[in-house]
Amino acid sequence: MNKICLLLLGVVLFFCTACFESGKLEDLDKKIVSLKQDLSMANEAVAEYEKNRPQSLTVLMDTVRKNEGYYQVLERLGVERNDRGAIVLALQDSVELSNLRVGQKFHVAKDANGATQVFRFSPNPSVVHLLFKNPTTKQFEYKLVEKPLTVKQSIFSGHIVQGGTLHGTLISVGIPARMSGVVAGVLQCKIPFSSVQPGDRFRIMLEESFYKDSIWISGKVLYAEFDGRVVGHHEAFLYNDPDPKSTYNAHYTENGEALIFDGLRYPLDRLHITSPFGTRTHPVSGVRKMHYGIDYGSPKGSPVYAVAKGKVVVSGYDQYSGNKIAIRHVDNSVSYYMHLSSRGVGVGAQVTGGQVIGRVGSTGRSTGPHLHLGFKNAKGQWINPKSKTMIATPKLQGERMARLTQQIAGIRKNLEKLESTEPQTIEGSTVKVKQQVVSK
Ligand SMILES: [Zn+2]
Repeated sequence: MNKICLLLLGVVLFFCTACFESGKLEDLDKKIVSLKQDLSMANEAVAEYEKNRPQSLTVLMDTVRKNEGYYQVLERLGVERNDRGAIVLALQDSVELSNLRVGQKFHVAKDANGATQVFRFSPNPSVVHLLFKNPTTKQFEYKLVEKPLTVKQSIFSGHIVQGGTLHGTLISVGIPARMSGVVAGVLQCKIPFSSVQPGDRFRIMLEESFYKDSIWISGKVLYAEFDGRVVGHHEAFLYNDPDPKSTYNAHYTENGEALIFDGLRYPLDRLHITSPFGTRTHPVSGVRKMHYGIDYGSPKGSPVYAVAKGKVVVSGYDQYSGNKIAIRHVDNSVSYYMHLSSRGVGVGAQVTGGQVIGRVGSTGRSTGPHLHLGFKNAKGQWINPKSKTMIATPKLQGERMARLTQQIAGIRKNLEKLESTEPQTIEGSTVKVKQQVVSK
């Protein structure tokens, strides 16, 4: 502001000198009036700018520690109680809040009054979840930033050596345990591993994404093949539904048969866990409480399926669970479905696994539409429903089956393409790798 004043004063002085020299005093008066106006306008502009200039924010960072949830980290960062709740609410549709890992970083940016204006969470180097507080509505607005990844496909092929296992062989060549586990899991359905012989051949096709070419972000098993002297020839294909959270995303045989031993039917078509089983800290109140089930966020009205066949033992309403249904299964375990908007079955009804028994709602003590799924074992103890294997269907049908057939053709084409590339050998292993970048 001082600079502007000095400048204007300089201009005034210049004109004064000029005017005295020419002796036109009336003109000078006019000039002074106009310059005074300019000066007052400049002052107003400066004041306006000072009032509205972007606030300088202070950025703080903290990391997730063992046994911590969002609440603890946000509290340590000094985020105000209401904002803690608002942040969790604003994120829960986009981020699976129960998947926090030790070491993950939270950033918050606060204004001069200590109020949180920006929240940043980056679960891995390629993804950033951002929340900005809208200055008008005072609500957090969500923005996702995804950085480009390099996607590679690879085939690992080899044979079982004397005393070796498939899982052990895959781990030894550096395939992440999560994916080796998937391979073993799907093949196990068809292959009794005790009948696996040395010399039996396998072929696995993976698709992995990397950040900056080398930081592993994620991977999936597109294909697994096993050809055994005793167990015979088996193939497994990954089915990809248009919805990445669809419960149908799993491995199937070429005929669409699910590769899973025996599983419960998922209670919904889409899984998004908003609150897991176990002790949780309420994001707003900070109170620690046991949660005897899993909450799945889902739009109101979505169909809810019986997880297995059984008899309806509860179909009613109470102020906490809202509309709830309980089904006793043949092994005497009981599944519970709560907060429903509507119930489609009454006490005593016999239901089959996958039958629609009601619709997702937000009745009872609930902050938004979700399904609370509880599960009691035969002894009447609450168990984590996640400990049960769940599948969407034993066999794909209709449109999904047609899509699988199409995807299998694509996988076979890619296999052929990959097979034509030069193999790399892995030191100390009989396994060969063929790899290519499919997108960057
Ligand atoms: Zn719940």
